[in-house]
Amino acid sequence: MSFSSKVKEELVLAEGAARHCRLAELAALASLCGYVCYRNGQAVCLEFHAENEIIVRKCFTLLEKTFNIRGMTASGKVLKEANRFQIRVQNQAIKICQALKLEQTREGVLFASSLIAQNTCCKRAFIRGAFLAAGSISDPRKAYHFEVVFLARKQAEQLRDMINSFSMEAKVIVRKKYYVVYVKEGSQIADLLNIMGAHVALMDFENIRILKEMRNSINRQVNCDAANINKTVRASAKQIDDIIYIRDSIGFSKLTKGLEEIAELRIEYPEASLKELGEMMSVPLGKSGVNHRLKRLSSIADDLRELKEDLV
Ligand SMILES: [Zn+2]
Repeated sequence: MSFSSKVKEELVLAEGAARHCRLAELAALASLCGYVCYRNGQAVCLEFHAENEIIVRKCFTLLEKTFNIRGMTASGKVLKEANRFQIRVQNQAIKICQALKLEQTREGVLFASSLIAQNTCCKRAFIRGAFLAAGSISDPRKAYHFEVVFLARKQAEQLRDMINSFSMEAKVIVRKKYYVVYVKEGSQIADLLNIMGAHVALMDFENIRILKEMRNSINRQVNCDAANINKTVRASAKQIDDIIYIRDSIGFSKLTKGLEEIAELRIEYPEASLKELGEMMSVPLGKSGVNHRLKRLSSIADDLRELKEDLV
């Protein structure tokens, strides 16, 4: 099962205890999968349609708990028609549309006034309803992506503002004829799971996120170590070049004892760090002492090279 489906299965069971929260969640669901039939400008029937049966069942449960519904489809059951599940409410359509603060826009889209979700608890419920009806979350193993798809810009901007009231950075993009609200940051998606009440999914999400971050930081460390080793190896190769040049042109016997010893150690242990070379000296020497002597050797080699050029 996809990560999205798991989150939705959990959220179908999450529910605000208060009536105001149930109204907010139902308003979000209605604005995304609800249809109102009007006769003489009056709402005569409210329907909820969805391809996913659990979403329609959620609408059913919320309606049942929030309104004293009679006349919700003859059998009071969720009907299946052409791969879509639906419920139809007839007798109280006007009352419900008013309670949910729904209005039909000129484009024929149902829009729930933001007045339905004024409290923080109601905003959480509204975001949950919108996600259940038209949202998805990518598997965090692959990518961090949360989105909800709308038909009208007004709806998308409403959800974006509601999400951003929780100090997040949701954005809206246009994709074909749809308006998509999305969040791409791992920690913000974790916050959204928490806000919507998907606590089990949140734990899974965070476990995966921690593992991913650990792996990334180990990779960074490995790359950094490799870069340091490269630097040491390159420096050592240059030092050995210089030392061999001295050996082959004037021999070590012309060097002071201290320089001769470090020259021999460097050739013998090309991969040793300066600190390690210092520890191998007959009279141990610190890192900066070793560095100083190696620089001295390099400048002797440079002088010898210049001298040779002058002679040519
Ligand atoms: Zn509330």
